[in-house]
Amino acid sequence: MKLSLVEIEKTFGSIIAVDKVSFELERREFLSLLGPSGCGKTTTLRLIAGFERPDTGQILLDGRELLPVPPEKRQIGFVFQNYALFPHMTVARNIAYGIRFDRGIDTKHRVEELLDLVDLRGFERRRPAELSSGQSQRVALARALAPKPKLLLLDEPLSALDAKLRESLRGEIRRIQQEIGLSAIYVTHDQEEALALSDRIGVMNEGRIEQIGNPKGIYRHPETTFVASFIGHTNRLEGTVIGYVDGRTQVKVGEAVVVAVVSDAALGTRVTLFIKEEDLHLDGSGEKTLIARVERIEYRGDATVIALTSLLGTLHARIASTKEDLPGIGGRVTVGFDEQDVILIADS
Ligand code: ATP
Repeated sequence: MKLSLVEIEKTFGSIIAVDKVSFELERREFLSLLGPSGCGKTTTLRLIAGFERPDTGQILLDGRELLPVPPEKRQIGFVFQNYALFPHMTVARNIAYGIRFDRGIDTKHRVEELLDLVDLRGFERRRPAELSSGQSQRVALARALAPKPKLLLLDEPLSALDAKLRESLRGEIRRIQQEIGLSAIYVTHDQEEALALSDRIGVMNEGRIEQIGNPKGIYRHPETTFVASFIGHTNRLEGTVIGYVDGRTQVKVGEAVVVAVVSDAALGTRVTLFIKEEDLHLDGSGEKTLIARVERIEYRGDATVIALTSLLGTLHARIASTKEDLPGIGGRVTVGFDEQDVILIADS
C-alpha cells in the first residue's frame, strides 16, 4: 500500500479548507495530521475517504487514481470521533456491518477474530447503550477493520474519552495497527497524542502542511514559526541579526542581550528565536547565562513552571518538580541555556 496526495485543494465558498496538500504514506506507516481547530485536518481525511471531492489535485492508492472510485470501494476504513454505532444492533452485528458487502468472508469467524483483536470477547451480545465509551470506540475500530482495509483513517477517535482512557486506548490503537501491519492516518489536535503514536507527523495550519517529519524532528527542529510555537512549551523572542563570530550568527534581543546561534540568516534580518521551557536551566549551567527575577511559580504535577523577568523579557522555565532548591518568588536566579537549544527562524 502506498498513498499519495498530490497538490490537493478544497474550498468551501471563500474558505480554503485544504490548500495544495501533498504527502505520501508508506506501507505500515502511522501518520498523524496535527493542528489547531479549523486547519483542514478532517477535510483532508474526508477527501481521502471519498466523502468530499477535491477541487484540484490527485489522490493515488497504489498508483491508482482514487477520485473516480466511490467511498465504499476504496478499501479504506474510517473511525470517527463519535463512534457512529447502530444503537439497535448488538456489538457482533455492528462489527459484521463492516463486511455486509463482502460475500467471500466468513462473517462469524471474522467477528470473533476482531473481538479478540480489540479485547471485547464476551461483549458480542451487548448493545451500544450497555458499553462504556472506551468499549464503544473499540467496537467502532473493529467495524472499520472488519473488511481488511488497505488504509485506516481515524478522526480524533479518542477526544470524547477521559485522559486516562485516552492514554491506554491510544496504546491499543498503535498495537493493533502494528500487529496487522496496517497503514493509518490519525487526525488530532493533541500534540502529546501525535508525538506518542506516530511514525511521522504532518503539522497543519490554515489548510497547509507546514512541516512533516518524525516526532523528534518536529519537536526539536521546527522549521516555521507556527510549528515552533505550536509544539511543546516555548519561549519566543524577537531579535535582529547583528553579526557573525566563530561560525555563529549573533542575534540582538531587546536592548542588550546577544545570543549566538548556528544559522545562515543574513545581516539585519528580523528573526524569531525559540527556546523550549525545559531547555532553560536555573542551576547556573549553560553557554549563555543571565540574571533573572522570579515572578511566579506554577506547580503542574511532574513539572514546575517558573515565570521570570530578565533582559530577554519574560521567560518561562520548566523544571522537574522533584528538583530541590526551587527559588522563592521575588528571588534572583541565574538562567542558562545552550546555543544548540535555540531555534532561529528568519521572518519571511
Ligand atoms: P477540527 O479539529 O475543529 O475538526 P479541522 O482541522 O478538522 O478542525 P476542518 O473540519 O477540515 O478542520 O475544516 C477546515 C475549514 O473548512 C474550516 O474553516 C471549516 O469551517 C471549513 N469547512 C469544513 N467543512 C465545511 C463544509 N462542509 N462547508 C463549509 N465549510 C466547511
